[in-house]
Amino acid sequence: MSQEKSDRHAARMARKKAVIDAAIAAATDERGLLLVVTGNGKGKSTAAFGMVARALGHGLKVGVVQFIKSRTDTGEEAFLGQHAEWHVTGDGFTWDTQNREQDIATARRGWAIAARMLADPAYQLVVLDELTYLLNYGYLDSDTVLDALAHRPPMQHVVVTGRAAPAALVELADTVSEIADVKHAFRAGVKAQPGIDL
Ligand code: ATP
Ligand code: MG
Repeated sequence: MSQEKSDRHAARMARKKAVIDAAIAAATDERGLLLVVTGNGKGKSTAAFGMVARALGHGLKVGVVQFIKSRTDTGEEAFLGQHAEWHVTGDGFTWDTQNREQDIATARRGWAIAARMLADPAYQLVVLDELTYLLNYGYLDSDTVLDALAHRPPMQHVVVTGRAAPAALVELADTVSEIADVKHAFRAGVKAQPGIDL
């Protein structure tokens, strides 16, 4: 690389560093965050479980409520469930149960656990995995859920996952990520793989 090119690069990086340092210096708030991980791509629940691992590494108390899904043989529960309070509250997908009344009763049982955590400042991170479906299907009252999220303890972090996050939830959230479905091995005929999908 020519000297001139190197100098230009160094000057550009110095300007970039000044901008980044100023942004970091300006971010001084500390409070509990509401995060939403949504979209059609793979990686929503695993992003939430990544934060569970981080939080546990810092010694935080973590609660996880998994809605919809019924399987209790996942790697995340086997591993992270040793240190986090873990509840699997689903009966399976709506197309498996085919019973709306049962789905609603199950949703309410799961929500009761979540509501208890959202009212208790001892929980420093709460994961509500696949919660969006319960809102979108109308299994839970949206205002009740949003109210509990909005009035949770001020230092408590909450991660909500699931496709098609409702606008009001996105509005309330501090950080929202939408994962795009670019490709998925399932469509090439690969079945769910332990360690990757469960
Ligand atoms: P993960 O739990 O792997 O982070 P996710 O939470 O983003 O996935 P879910 O809709 O909860 O997605 O579905 C979980 C399961 O479905 C996983 O086995 C995942 O690999 C698979 N899956 C996720 N997205 C897709 C997709 N776009 N097409 C096919 N299968 C998918
Ligand atoms: Mg998921």
